[in-house]
Amino acid sequence: MRKFFLVTLLLVCLSPAGAQTRPGQRAHASLSPEAKALLEQAIGVVCTQAKLDPKSSIAIDEMQARPSLPLHSPEARAGAERAQRLLPVAKDLVINSLRQLSTEYGVQGSRYYNLRLRQAIARVNSVKRVRPDMDSRDNASVYLSRPHVITFGTIFLAGLRSDEGMISVLAHELMHIADGDNDSLRTLVRAVGNKASDLTGLDIHGQRSEEVACDLIGAMAARAYIASSPDYESIARRLARSIQHNCVDLDEGDEDHLSPRNTIRALLALNPGLVRELINDRF
Ligand SMILES: [Zn+2]
Repeated sequence: MRKFFLVTLLLVCLSPAGAQTRPGQRAHASLSPEAKALLEQAIGVVCTQAKLDPKSSIAIDEMQARPSLPLHSPEARAGAERAQRLLPVAKDLVINSLRQLSTEYGVQGSRYYNLRLRQAIARVNSVKRVRPDMDSRDNASVYLSRPHVITFGTIFLAGLRSDEGMISVLAHELMHIADGDNDSLRTLVRAVGNKASDLTGLDIHGQRSEEVACDLIGAMAARAYIASSPDYESIARRLARSIQHNCVDLDEGDEDHLSPRNTIRALLALNPGLVRELINDRF
């Protein structure tokens, strides 16, 4: 991951004006004031549902403040069962989303990329297990030396109280596995980061673009899951669950991650269909 970050940084430094269009890169306009207003309205829906929905995902900052949860607590066990049950579904959804995104961003077609994509899909298919871990607390992670396992903190397992929230986070981790230790999908990841930067004016390069691409795949996977499994709940409420762990009060990012609320902004900017569905189908 580090290598990817340095390479990207170099490219950005060599380009005198950061926003200049490089060969093969499409220029994206920033959001119109109307689109920005709709986006903020959609964030309002997501974070209001966080308070109203009994199955909403707990915000990351709230999870961080909680004491560690033993492996055998009922909430952690229920979360682990949910994660393991949904893993096969999440794998299929990630593979479809990955293909769709590659087409959408125009990166598919070269023999080199298609080979990398096939290898990425094979890595996703080889994931077998979710490992609950008390010490990981509110994190989920993948150790690329053990690519068949997703390690999931017990607080996080308990804090994602819906299938939609769980699929979104599983898909995020599966996208890291797809990218692998050589950043195989860097062409796609970089294109997503560039577009998100242009649309939001936020600095989304290097590792930040990988995190946003993983979150985007997560949101797409959850949206496809919702479309394929209709129930009596509102679509907006279900969609909100896929991103509302970012509805924090303490909104801090770091070098590798946008702040949680800016993560929602970037995701919605990249996904106007999601904005529409959140606003139009509220209850
Ligand atoms: Zn991540």
